[in-house]
Amino acid sequence: MQKISNVTVLGTGVLGSQIAFQAAWYGYAVTAFDLDESLLGAARERFTKLAAIYTADGVGGGGEGRGERVLAGIHYSHDLAEAVADADLVIEAVPETLSIKQQTYTDLAAVAPAKTIFATNSSTLLPSDLKESTGRPDRFLALHYANNVWRQNTAEVMGTTDTDPAVFDAVVAFTEGSGLVPIRLKKEKAGSVLNSMLVPLLNAAAGLLVGGFADAETIDKTWRIGTGAPVGPFQIFDIIGLTTPYNIAVASSDAGSQAFAAYLKENFIDAGKLGVATGEGFYRY
Ligand code: NAD
Repeated sequence: MQKISNVTVLGTGVLGSQIAFQAAWYGYAVTAFDLDESLLGAARERFTKLAAIYTADGVGGGGEGRGERVLAGIHYSHDLAEAVADADLVIEAVPETLSIKQQTYTDLAAVAPAKTIFATNSSTLLPSDLKESTGRPDRFLALHYANNVWRQNTAEVMGTTDTDPAVFDAVVAFTEGSGLVPIRLKKEKAGSVLNSMLVPLLNAAAGLLVGGFADAETIDKTWRIGTGAPVGPFQIFDIIGLTTPYNIAVASSDAGSQAFAAYLKENFIDAGKLGVATGEGFYRY
């Protein structure tokens, strides 16, 4: 099985920065790629904040000076060929737009060495939607992280019918080596495992609320007591941040989603109450 040592992450936004830092924290040689110097400067700031969080949470046992060492070891590049020249694994976390991702893989295929495995962190696209652009469908799969990767540390690994099983196993070994819990999918599924369960739960909770059947606290209490789960759906909304569910609801054409979008806008979005990150959403923090 191919050993993964050198990892390049494409896109250093919300998830890409976490993906890169998680791998670096666990000792992988990481290169962070983004489009220009100023975006890489922003990445440096994200990494510095993550180092403080990982240190405070004692991720992987923490350890004296680990944050500084990890930060010093991350390599930065806005030259794609240089960024992937010796990569065993490239994890793509560029915006969730099909055309941007396809172009990224076309560019990547032209410069990456034959050994390099490509993985997409896409939340909504299937790897089959992208595999032709990679030029190497046998060395391509989805590797989906959850937000706050150091705590919500699932890594959903999902291949296409073309993915070489040895490549799948190499990526699973990488997830285990980088402090993650691998979730192996046997075949492709939009939303993988986690979002296939979570999204219907959140939609059902939203329907109960905007339909006037029960308030958020009651719905959450029911879920917690009735299932033993530590948090209810509206507590989860607050953790995700209310902007994302609002954007999804606005873009959806069904009446229930439109009603939920209007509810979120009036009660939260317009008031700047965006969930845990701003100190208030459905609950105060
Ligand atoms: P983001 O907008 O925060 O970051 C995207 C980054 O990609 C930016 O730094 C941008 O400069 C960079 N970028 C844009 N075009 C690029 C290109 N052509 N090449 C390289 N970099 C480019 O987005 P995000 O929230 O981090 O999402 C990235 C991916 O991760 C998406 O596929 C999304 O579905 C997935 N994801 C997001 C979350 C989440 O909670 N945000 C969770 C799981 C998966």
